[in-house]
Amino acid sequence: MSDYLIRAIDKDKKFKIITADTTALVEAARVAHGTSATSSAALGRALTAIAMMSTNLKNEKDIMTMVIDGGGIIGKIVAVANSKGEVKGYVDNPLADAPSNAYGKLDVGAIVGTDGDIRIMMDMGMKDPYVGQAPLVSGEIAEDIANYYFTSEQVNSAVGLGVLVDTDYSIIASGGFLIQLMPGIEDEDIERLENTLGSISPVTQMIADNLTPEDMLKELLPGYEMEILQKTELQFKCDCSRKKIKDLIISLGKTEITAMIEEDHGAEVVCQFCNTKYQFTEAELERILNSLED
Ligand SMILES: [Zn+2]
Repeated sequence: MSDYLIRAIDKDKKFKIITADTTALVEAARVAHGTSATSSAALGRALTAIAMMSTNLKNEKDIMTMVIDGGGIIGKIVAVANSKGEVKGYVDNPLADAPSNAYGKLDVGAIVGTDGDIRIMMDMGMKDPYVGQAPLVSGEIAEDIANYYFTSEQVNSAVGLGVLVDTDYSIIASGGFLIQLMPGIEDEDIERLENTLGSISPVTQMIADNLTPEDMLKELLPGYEMEILQKTELQFKCDCSRKKIKDLIISLGKTEITAMIEEDHGAEVVCQFCNTKYQFTEAELERILNSLED
């Protein structure tokens, strides 16, 4: 079954909720980048988060980017999503790893660090993209995003993200939820939610048990009458192409292209987001150079 998310609201407008299964998406990212177990968890959490957060993009060409830079050994984590459920991303050091933490869990916080911030950029085709940011609180990503919503957008939320990695490094389960508390919420609703969150299975367990995003919604907000507003398929998909890479080479200018021909006798350009390698032969580079001289 392919990955998807659902977005829903309860009929009294107390909660907005998004639940997502991103298992195949995160497995595709892991294969593309060759990430260690802990790096898969970090990247997978970020990809899942940006997929859910990007549901508030309005137009087809809008893009949301998340950069997490906590000073840890993984370096920067970059995750990008568009309104069509296409998600891409990378980490600076895919081999960064750490021993499991005291709970036997992958220690994402240890490789991400907390000496830095999380930045969200929304490019909606206007000149200045919207940028929000907040300091990292734990480097575990879910908490950091909840803190981001609180400090940057004054929204109270509950965020859960999880990636379960097998002994052969493949992804067993990945997914998440994002619950935003609306102004009409009452204390007893918050108490009920806290009790639920304290007693239900972790996201990865729910997904490993074959619960769908709709099932997760019922687990998280039992007893509320929910209306599903959106269902979007998710996939790890990069928008790079040979044409775009060629344009990038052209933008480097004649001197740089001449150097590629004379020194390297060709060029290999690797897309950061999906690791696709684009080869350009000496002859192709010469054709590009000639086209610039016309
Ligand atoms: Zn790419």
